[in-house]
Amino acid sequence: MAAHGRPGPYDALVTDDCLFCRIVAGEIPSTIVRETESTVAFRDINPQAPTHVVVVPREHYPNAYELAKADPGLAGALLAAAGAVAEQEGVTDGYRIVFNTGAKAGQSVFHVHCHVLGGRPLTWPPG
Ligand code: 5GP
Ligand code: ZN
Repeated sequence: MAAHGRPGPYDALVTDDCLFCRIVAGEIPSTIVRETESTVAFRDINPQAPTHVVVVPREHYPNAYELAKADPGLAGALLAAAGAVAEQEGVTDGYRIVFNTGAKAGQSVFHVHCHVLGGRPLTWPPG
């Protein structure tokens, strides 16, 4: 059972020490900036831009593709939450929503999350 206490399709893959399950459950403190019924958004502990917020579904899925296949509605809710965070943070003139997917792309927490980055010019291509 995931730390959030509700059964889900990926519970077999959820360890009790999934960092983001524990943040969702309130077991690890974080600076939460927005919450919905299905999502939580909190400030990244190691910000890469003036606005750097991590947005997660409460339910555990390992990455964006698995989330989208299993629950497209929840994937949409995650994107809507990311946009609402950008509005709330006042960065709608230019921001980036990033899903690092796989260790080679820099994913270090295998609970799907997107980064909302803004508040400074963002270069392309990313590193
Ligand atoms: P990833 O590298 O998987 O795309 O993103 C994981 C993000 O989680 C990183 O940007 C990292 O700084 C952030 N992070 C890691 N541990 C914590 C933590 O304990 N609290 C918060 N708020 N962010 C964390
Ligand atoms: Zn998790």
